[in-house]
Amino acid sequence: MRSVLAATIGGVVLLSSACSGDTETPADVVAGDASAAGSQLAASEWLMHGLDDAETRFSPLDQINAGTVARLGVVWHYDTRSLRGLEATPLIRDGVLYATTSWSNAFAVDAVTGQELWYWDSAADRVRGARACCDVVNRGVALHEDKIFVGVVDGRLVALDAATGEPVWDVQTTDVSQPYTITGAPRVVDGKVIIGNGGAEFGVRGYVSAYDPETGALLWRTWTVPGDPSLPFESAALEAAASTWNGRWWELGGGGTVWDGMAYDPEADLLYVGTGNGSPWNQAIRSPGGGDNLYLSSILALDVESGEIEWHYQTTPGDNWDYTAVQPLLLADLTIDGRERQTILQAPKNGFFYVLDRLSGELISAEPYVGITWAKGFDRTTGRPIETAQARYGNEITLLSPGPGGGHNWHPMSFNPATGLVYIPAQQSSFPYKNDPDFVATSRENLGVAIVPPPGFPERAADAYEPGIGPTLPGANALLAWDPVSQAARWQVDLGNVPGGGTLTTAGNLVFQGRGDGLFVAYSADRGEKLWELDLGNGILAPPVTFAIDGRQYVSVLVGWGSTAGLFGGYPSDQYKAEGRLYTFALDGARDFEPVRGIPRPGLTAIPSDASEEQIANGAAIYGERCYMCHGFGAVGGGQIADLRYSTAETYATIDTIVRGGAYEQLGMPRFDFLTEQDTAALRAFLLAQRQALIASQ
Ligand code: CA
Repeated sequence: MRSVLAATIGGVVLLSSACSGDTETPADVVAGDASAAGSQLAASEWLMHGLDDAETRFSPLDQINAGTVARLGVVWHYDTRSLRGLEATPLIRDGVLYATTSWSNAFAVDAVTGQELWYWDSAADRVRGARACCDVVNRGVALHEDKIFVGVVDGRLVALDAATGEPVWDVQTTDVSQPYTITGAPRVVDGKVIIGNGGAEFGVRGYVSAYDPETGALLWRTWTVPGDPSLPFESAALEAAASTWNGRWWELGGGGTVWDGMAYDPEADLLYVGTGNGSPWNQAIRSPGGGDNLYLSSILALDVESGEIEWHYQTTPGDNWDYTAVQPLLLADLTIDGRERQTILQAPKNGFFYVLDRLSGELISAEPYVGITWAKGFDRTTGRPIETAQARYGNEITLLSPGPGGGHNWHPMSFNPATGLVYIPAQQSSFPYKNDPDFVATSRENLGVAIVPPPGFPERAADAYEPGIGPTLPGANALLAWDPVSQAARWQVDLGNVPGGGTLTTAGNLVFQGRGDGLFVAYSADRGEKLWELDLGNGILAPPVTFAIDGRQYVSVLVGWGSTAGLFGGYPSDQYKAEGRLYTFALDGARDFEPVRGIPRPGLTAIPSDASEEQIANGAAIYGERCYMCHGFGAVGGGQIADLRYSTAETYATIDTIVRGGAYEQLGMPRFDFLTEQDTAALRAFLLAQRQALIASQ
């Protein structure tokens, strides 16, 4: 039951290179002659976030293949010192593996032995952690010559010496008075470090920036939504965009943050970025009277020299639902209707799979890849979705699919040119949208949508459900093998209530995917047959990578539970405070290793409480507004964040100093100084009631 809830609403709020030019990159292989794996060395490393500029996550390596994968086992593991969600894509160069962990910490290990070369603590400001909507995760580093680059959750971009992990430069990329965070991986393209940020759940204005890799100097910055129109616009594009907004959006931030997906076409010299949802979510508050609200929920093609917007395509005009288009972007050359097309592909949150001409931005096709109810079709002549009557919700609860978790979130998809398929970690999500009649802009959560307390939610939600369009997934999660030409699933694996992680595909006719229940699985890429699996003991969200050194192919994946699914829904297994690990596999590695295990949950004894029913209800309401984002609905314990039903008697007794006084601020627990002593007493009453309910259920 808990996992059903987690999967369904697992996104309530969600719910974010270095190619030196002298080697042939995998991008060249994919785009051109697949047989000319040419430079074996280049093909054997993983130098960029998505493997190549096109972010295909397709490796030409095939020593591990559909015929040999049964022999795959563990050759080493590395303990990451992280107890929070792990989402990073490791990079591998010259026999060294670089990755990041929670709180934007980074490490380098020998890629053959797993021996630590260095570990860098970002010293991220813990107070900023609660501004990361969906855990203090980080999706990885970028490499360029002798440096690696890390975006830090508190808004810094840091260059480290790749050999030592020592900082070379450290710049603040955000206004620290605003609730910006960074969870995404930087990219290095055209000799520039590109970094965006997040924060649209809290009220910010989105942008993406380019920095000089040597000095950290800002080269350009492109805002994604217009600012105060009484001030000069930063560009003609933003001036034009301002006519698609109403009201005083700039006072609310507007949103459109660039927190994850990017890709680069070196021939066209275009950098592609995806933009996020509106801030606040509710358009009636953000832009009263409507409008498309450019460039929210859009794919933008930027001139990499200047950052100017060359073309845009908006996936969700007038976003009202947290339908970001920051999901991974992938470049592929496809034959469509007899024509060779240079395309860009995306499966954004709104549930449509988009195929665009990446040179012009022309829409080639858009079809739903999951079941959706916010739109009833797609108008090819206008290039816009056709909304259903209920999509623009009002004061009544309206259940819509997808929810803010999207049909697909940040989890990377991959494209295999041999099968022509895109492997999407998809989900069937929904959410009860409703106006927040009491909305007041704050620097905290700024949704404009009333979060309906969970008790009774699934039942009420079921009443409101109407079948929509698109292929409704049998379970809440699935691995979809999507044909971008015919716009249909060729095969799919039903994951039920278990969230699926990012994917990797290889020339060995394989697709790898980790799962929230700790299984790491290999499927045949053409047919989706399960060929191999291993229980790694802790939830997996991060995408696997593969590389080869001295003639041996390896696969690596970060294993660590948390992120949105963990924060809101608790644990998919019995892992509690299990340390994250990096596992590396090869043929004939060990199958009988000892997976990391969490600590046993402590036994619970009742703590007497004389709270009234009214106090408990008040506490539940405050909890439902302020606490669930990190501690989970119903205080089920988010990810590795404290399960508040298991707190000590002393913690309950001192709750006021923690919540209002900020006693744990340096651990990442924010100070809620606007609450009252009565409020914290009510919270204690609610938490003790939840603890008692757990005891009664055991
Ligand atoms: Ca969002």
